[in-house]
Amino acid sequence: MSSTSKKYHPQEAAEFVADNERAHWHDKALWFVRSKRDKAAAAVPEWEALRETASQIKAHMVAKHADFLEQFEEQATKLGAVVHWAKNPEEHNRIVLELLQKHEVKRIVKSKSMLTEECHLNPFLEKNGIEVVDTDLGERIVQLRNEPPSHIVLPAIHIKKGEVGELFHEYLGTEKGADDPDYLTEAARHHLREKFLAADAGITGVNFAIAETGGIVVCTNEGNADLGTSLAKLHIACMGIEKLIPRAQDLSVFTRLLARSATGQPITTYTSHFHGPREGGELHIIMLDNGRSVLRQSDDFRRSLSCIRCGACMNTCPVYRRSGGHSYNNTVPGPIGSILGPAMDAEKHSSLPFACSLCGSCSDVCPVKIDLHHQLLKWRGKIAERKLLPWTKRMSMKMASIVLRNTWLFTLMGGIARKVMPLMPRFLVYNRFNDWGKQRDLPAMPKQSFRQQLKKRNDSQKRDS
Ligand code: SF4
Repeated sequence: MSSTSKKYHPQEAAEFVADNERAHWHDKALWFVRSKRDKAAAAVPEWEALRETASQIKAHMVAKHADFLEQFEEQATKLGAVVHWAKNPEEHNRIVLELLQKHEVKRIVKSKSMLTEECHLNPFLEKNGIEVVDTDLGERIVQLRNEPPSHIVLPAIHIKKGEVGELFHEYLGTEKGADDPDYLTEAARHHLREKFLAADAGITGVNFAIAETGGIVVCTNEGNADLGTSLAKLHIACMGIEKLIPRAQDLSVFTRLLARSATGQPITTYTSHFHGPREGGELHIIMLDNGRSVLRQSDDFRRSLSCIRCGACMNTCPVYRRSGGHSYNNTVPGPIGSILGPAMDAEKHSSLPFACSLCGSCSDVCPVKIDLHHQLLKWRGKIAERKLLPWTKRMSMKMASIVLRNTWLFTLMGGIARKVMPLMPRFLVYNRFNDWGKQRDLPAMPKQSFRQQLKKRNDSQKRDS
């Protein structure tokens, strides 16, 4: 992606934040999911042991990545699948198109895959005359609105049911003003059923690829991956090369963690296993690198490759919940997206590591124990070193650093601020140069500094004793 489209996270978030009601409702909806996750995790006594095991399995996978990739290719090929390797999104999309053209495919159904979002596969295929229908309900909603998902598990979490009603009235012919979720879901079901029956090929993502067996596993709550790959003969599975797990028995650790962390469910409704193509069909697995092997070389950020895309770090993040997924302008938003984004394009995504309060809640909930907030802090340092911060921020940080490093200057500035601030007209403090003050007011200036107050208290205690 070019860096010409660069916008900072606060600018991207401004529109979302301006709709106060939506921002609060979004915050509450995600906190509800986070609370469900907490209950589900607390119901498993060995939860922390599971997290630790998952973290170690993924660390082992990353350490011996090349070996496991080779093993997976060998085993998958033995099962009759064809494995393709793609260095970047262009190669990935070209492979998909060639396969579709070879089979004279004109219509495809696709289950949820953030990797195809990363590759911008839909517009590419549509440009080449192929109809793509996203079959996950949330993804279909955002596809009809012509916008990207705002969350990796709940792609339409930013949209209210009334808006879905209007959208379905326009595209699916539902009754005007109808917003009953059951009615709308039934309408989507009928609409998608026609698309499933008409499709010539099915594309899915991959949640886990098992090196030991060569099988792939796809988790959905709607069964859409199964239907999409059972009706059409051609199944194309698109995955990032980090999706490997070493052994089949490791799967039980991850499936227990994934559903509980993502939505608070004990298990994902459909956990579908594909070991080779179905009878009379073809299975093609496309393995995308796109910067992942570079990330693997980095001691600071390697652990981000363990991510199983559960979305828990987003649901708990106070910044994500209040600024919405689109404000990240990245395929994967939230804390993990703020690490992966700069790894792909540090200049374009330079503001993302700063969209963080460093509260550490993301690291606490991550089922594979990625040290997310530490990595975000590391990115801040690297972005500052590379001089990718806007000059206003660089200057203000430099000035703050000078003041904070000199006690006498800090005392002097504090004294001046306490005297001058109460006298200043509001427009001099809250203006377009003060981003911090856009959504909040400074507290009233105290008459004395903390040190003066402490000294006064200690003196009075001495006098009293
Ligand atoms: S970083 Fe952890 S919490 Fe966030 S999506 Fe990945 S696995 Fe889930």
